Amino acid sequence: LNPEWANLGDLIVHQVQLLTPKAKQSNVVLIDKTSLDSIAKVRVDRPRIEQVFFNLLNNAIQAMPNGGRVVVDTIINAESFTVTITDEGPGIPDDLKDCIFDPYFTTKSEGTGLGLALSDKIMRQHNGGIEFHTSPAGTTFEITLPIASPFN
Ligand code: ADP
Ligand code: MG
Repeated sequence: LNPEWANLGDLIVHQVQLLTPKAKQSNVVLIDKTSLDSIAKVRVDRPRIEQVFFNLLNNAIQAMPNGGRVVVDTIINAESFTVTITDEGPGIPDDLKDCIFDPYFTTKSEGTGLGLALSDKIMRQHNGGIEFHTSPAGTTFEITLPIASPFN
């Protein structure tokens, strides 16, 4: 890892802007509820964490080929920051829930199946994690990063 200090809201808004044109093509609206002024300063390998946001936003967009909303929000806790990415897609079927983090597991004709496997690895490298909640009304992926001490 190559850690540097970054503003969490800044990392998110950058990836949201990057994917907005792609989202528009399938009538998906990306709603960033996080604030650039967020006090959330994180110590991260910036390109890797950006890749995690990119992967999750991309999956959310791809889950809604006929349009919908993706909402990105942050939850600031005493010991960690959580970023939530929520879509209104069809959800992940029960029998696939255990497979989605497996390398090369994909349900897409042109998928690589590497996005979630890599994202999981990157979050572990940051002593954080990735979880999801899903229903037929949509899916939320949650990324958690520990609040870094200014001395590490
Ligand atoms: P890929 O996007 O190339 O298929 P990923 O590792 O990013 O690979 O995702 C693996 C699989 O997990 C996807 O093919 C899809 O079946 C499922 N998945 C991931 N994100 C979502 C989501 N937001 N909604 C529904 N299914 C999802
Ligand atoms: Mg993907």
